[in-house]
Amino acid sequence: MQGVPEHCEIVIVGGGPVGALAALRLARAGRDVTLIEARAQQAPLHDARALALSWYSREQLAAVGAWPDSLPCTVIDRVHVSQQDGFGRTLLQPEDLDLPHLGVVVDYPALTAALGDALAGAGVRVLWQTRVSSVRSLSRYATLQLTAADGSEALLTSRLVVLAEGGALAETLPGIRRHVHDYQQSALLAMLSPEQPHRHTAYERFSARGPFALLPHGEQMMLVWTRSHEDAQRLQQDGDALLAELQQAFGDRLGRFSAVGERAVFPLALRQLNRVSSGRVVMIGNAAQTMHPVAAQGFNLGLRDAVGLSEILAGAADPGDAAVLRRYSAARRIDSHAVVGFTHGLIRLFDGQHGVVRALRGLGMGGIDVLPPLRKAFASHLVFGVGT
Ligand SMILES: Cc1cc2nc3c(=O)[nH]c(=O)nc-3n(C[C@H](O)[C@H](O)[C@H](O)COP(=O)(O)OP(=O)(O)OC[C@H]3O[C@@H](n4cnc5c(N)ncnc54)[C@H](O)[C@@H]3O)c2cc1C
Repeated sequence: MQGVPEHCEIVIVGGGPVGALAALRLARAGRDVTLIEARAQQAPLHDARALALSWYSREQLAAVGAWPDSLPCTVIDRVHVSQQDGFGRTLLQPEDLDLPHLGVVVDYPALTAALGDALAGAGVRVLWQTRVSSVRSLSRYATLQLTAADGSEALLTSRLVVLAEGGALAETLPGIRRHVHDYQQSALLAMLSPEQPHRHTAYERFSARGPFALLPHGEQMMLVWTRSHEDAQRLQQDGDALLAELQQAFGDRLGRFSAVGERAVFPLALRQLNRVSSGRVVMIGNAAQTMHPVAAQGFNLGLRDAVGLSEILAGAADPGDAAVLRRYSAARRIDSHAVVGFTHGLIRLFDGQHGVVRALRGLGMGGIDVLPPLRKAFASHLVFGVGT
């Protein structure tokens, strides 16, 4: 395999948004970083996801040059949380946190491309179209087995390996177990045109048929609806049925919805590791935790993993040292567990359709809405995470 060094200080496996951000931050801090990504650099990414990012996340991306002015995005100025057939609603606004906007919506492929350009601009070494097939941690370094697109193989050693590849490699490491909760549900994604302008409001609604988010996306809105696998498949095929069911669940707040483009379905599960490091290997982003998208927290949390790791590694003589990685695990534990617990709790709480449960939810949302300190705490939790 050509152009591959035999030894690196830090290797990051996976050039998704979390791995790419970690690589940019570590390279800026003067670290010798190699990023390994299975995908080709210029290959168009077919991924229907639009990510709702907190303003904090957007600022972190801008700080490493991965948020050019040309990046197509839509700001979120309000988040409206409500439930179908029940009273109580919460409205979060930028004033709650003294921010210019609450967040921003960006397409996953566009963000990934912007990060790719930033990596090239910063001169970070990236091995595109290279897959890591195994990782092993030894006492003084870790080893990685790589396979390039042409089938050639190489062995690499590194003082620290950061797994940001979504998760498959972590389970091969000693002491690592993954807790999995299969929601037996899928997320159905669809682009819709509302009759009335969305005014940069993101809606989070807990409907009798499952929770959904409607995110402002240009003039349109991206729907992310949690449904049974069967319903999601059915509505993926049948746009008229989707519009009718959505209209019933959402009401006429934005008039009639129309123009459904291509739809996509993602099966949903919660996956969380018992520990985020093993020897000289550390897991960040989806490799450490994958969660239900209803609260739009997955990448926001993964991004804070990348920021937290680069902060802990600042000045560390040996980045793979056990004490350094213990400090990282401890620093990220509260945020990670709080966000995963909050998201999972939300699903459980809003799953029940019993009248009493609905009334309690209404009281909760009404309480958050009329008590500014509570509303600020809730908004701050969504935007900045916990314990950061
Ligand atoms: C439907 C849906 C909606 C979502 N909406 C939101 C939202 O609104 N807001 C939000 O914050 N989050 C959201 N998320 C979560 C968000 O998409 C993830 O948290 C985020 O993509 C995680 O980024 P990552 O870089 O950790 O992993 P990934 O995005 O999975 O990237 C992993 C990368 O690793 C590469 N790779 C994999 N295996 C290997 C290997 N062996 N060797 C080399 N490279 C490898 C892959 O090619 C890929 O590029 C949503 C998720 C879903 C499913």
